[in-house]
Amino acid sequence: MPIRLHDSLTRTPRELKPAQPDGIFRFYNCGPTVYAPAHIGNFRTFVVNDVIRRLLELEFGPDKVKHVRNLTDVDDKTIKRARDEGRPLSDVTKQWTDKFHADCAALNCLPPHVEPAATTHIKEQVDMIDVLMQKGNAYRAADGSVYFKVSSFGDYGALSRVKERELQVGSALKATAADADEKEDVSDFALWKAHKPDDGANAWDSPWGRGRPGWHIECSAMSKKHLGDTIDLHTGGVDLLFPHHENEIAQSQCCNGTTFAHHWYHSEHLLVDGKKMSKSLGNMYPLDEIVAKGFSPMALRYALLMGHPRKQLSFTLDSMHAAESALNKIRGYAKDLCKLRNLTFEETFTKSPTLPLIPQVLGSVLKDFLGRISDDINTPAAFGILFSGIERNWKWIGDHADDPTSWVQNQKEFQTSIDELRLMLFVLGLNLNTPTTLEVERPSAITALAEKRWAAKLAKDFAGADALRKELTAAGWSMLDRKDGYSLEPLKK
Ligand code: AMP
Ligand code: ZN
Repeated sequence: MPIRLHDSLTRTPRELKPAQPDGIFRFYNCGPTVYAPAHIGNFRTFVVNDVIRRLLELEFGPDKVKHVRNLTDVDDKTIKRARDEGRPLSDVTKQWTDKFHADCAALNCLPPHVEPAATTHIKEQVDMIDVLMQKGNAYRAADGSVYFKVSSFGDYGALSRVKERELQVGSALKATAADADEKEDVSDFALWKAHKPDDGANAWDSPWGRGRPGWHIECSAMSKKHLGDTIDLHTGGVDLLFPHHENEIAQSQCCNGTTFAHHWYHSEHLLVDGKKMSKSLGNMYPLDEIVAKGFSPMALRYALLMGHPRKQLSFTLDSMHAAESALNKIRGYAKDLCKLRNLTFEETFTKSPTLPLIPQVLGSVLKDFLGRISDDINTPAAFGILFSGIERNWKWIGDHADDPTSWVQNQKEFQTSIDELRLMLFVLGLNLNTPTTLEVERPSAITALAEKRWAAKLAKDFAGADALRKELTAAGWSMLDRKDGYSLEPLKK
């Protein structure tokens, strides 16, 4: 089934196809900056990219996809962390790279085929800067830093429409340029940063003096080294669109003289209580904190996929409860199917880390599911198809509970349902073997009461809302209100 994905450059949905005759699909996803644990917002982006990777494997074949995701292991933040902790940079970045890998594994993200680090690709970055210098797209400033000359690239701003934006709101770039003194123009950006005392030992030799690469050049250089001059898809969170990806296009296209990426995709942010996650707001959750609250990493993966990836998603504890109970439902259904087919659940559903075989004939559920998820990664619609299939089949199973003859007659259909479910779970990256750590089931009568109370509160019927809260308390439940929703917890006995 062709994969159509919104392309941020043309602002249209376009089909993903490998451009080169070898049929390999070249996919670059900007990776983490390894100075602290990644937060669940970062993981929204990585989980969405993991679904893209899985769909690509399904479409083109597992050996026809090359997925590269870098590690930013040298920049202001990593250096500052190492300095603050009095540790070598490589010590700090190794610690957080290991943690990132452990979290990705817990979230069932497939490892990229290549995971290059900026510090092991200094030569490639210097080589690219050298070409840009020779072509007149870059210049060395008095302090030994090298800058990209934005005015030398006529297409600058095509991805983010930054020029239009500038005209509308005044020079946003000018307002943010901290190192304006060294540059010929405030919109120019650093390719090479001359060594400063704060950088300590973190500097490398270059034709322009000791220093370190700028952030943007690292992705251009590592992408070129591992995927070639032109790639099929480049992705990241929406905050990377400008300036990071705009600058990558400028550097790569000026250096290589050809298109950098055929397709650009940006997924939207995860919000907490309606706000972007940020350190200053104290709302940045790492995975461990979610697990400490009693949720499984698989439920987090599910919750991160509940919203359309190109729309902002509000993270709430309620969404985690909903994710846990949805996973329980899928697990229960899978177990029922296994019983009917006389198969063990563990063998059938928990030992399939690789791509399961596509059934010869696509059943209608799988066909609809693939249609939805291949259409701009519409995960909410895909979940809808998955669950309506489960409800339908469960009804059939319930209706035929006392009719063992019908079970014998329908073995083929049960197997199709199992195959379809395995494939859908593969694409979503949901592994059913993670036991749910949350035992609390919320009875529907209680959730109905809570909904009623929330509606009363929104309608400013405070007396009604208070009365409903009393009913909930009497039934042993506590309802905690927040600005954009509520959570429902059993009262401690
Ligand atoms: P960083 O480690 O800061 O370079 O970010 C790694 C990835 O996470 C990038 O693709 C960012 O765009 C993405 N990202 C950062 N914050 C969020 C957020 N709140 N929601 C979703 N993705 C995010
Ligand atoms: Zn990048």
